[in-house]
Amino acid sequence: MLKLFIRLCQHAFAAVLPPSCPGCMGLLPATEPIGFCTSCYARLPWWNTARLLPPKLPPAITSFTAPCLYEEPLRNAILQLKFHDAVPFVTPLARLLAPHVPQGSGYLLVPVPSHASRLRKRRYNHAALLVQKLTELTGTPNNVTTLRRTVASSPQAQKTRAARLRLPATHFAVAPKHVAGKDIILVDDIYTTGATVRACALCLRKAGATSVHVLTLAYTAPDR
Ligand SMILES: [Zn+2]
Repeated sequence: MLKLFIRLCQHAFAAVLPPSCPGCMGLLPATEPIGFCTSCYARLPWWNTARLLPPKLPPAITSFTAPCLYEEPLRNAILQLKFHDAVPFVTPLARLLAPHVPQGSGYLLVPVPSHASRLRKRRYNHAALLVQKLTELTGTPNNVTTLRRTVASSPQAQKTRAARLRLPATHFAVAPKHVAGKDIILVDDIYTTGATVRACALCLRKAGATSVHVLTLAYTAPDR
């Protein structure tokens, strides 16, 4: 009950306070166009493949793009959006992804889904919020409900590398009528082992998707 009260207060204050920077949480001018303060924007960890080579993709994934590496100040922004109800941060984060959304007919934005039990606890799926904002920014259509997670599992971050890689496609379900013949842009926050997006991509390809392009905010090499 106290948690709910605190969350309601946070939302009420968020509506009247000027926006804050997702990187350092400092207040921003209401007219700030980028959504990050100048200092954090200058320090964004853009992914340079000379520093970290791209991962080897499984056959179900057509392409993988991430604008940044999973480092500060982006790391704080993602954690705030994912775990601390910082929903307004979805706009500056989606702006980082928007230039990488392929244009053309046949593309459909789809978020990596959360299981219903996790949604009840957290009340929103941050990947779905990113997808909805990307539709606003790019005009590319979305479907945020068709791909579902049918089996609850512990968050990928809490598992060993071997356990992450075992995630099967049968933990996901999708209505073929929504994705058959479409080029899917599968959106998530971070690509680490690629196990979750691989399982989603297999499910989507089985349902008739022509291609699956994975787009995440950040890439990080698995450390285990
Ligand atoms: Zn900042």
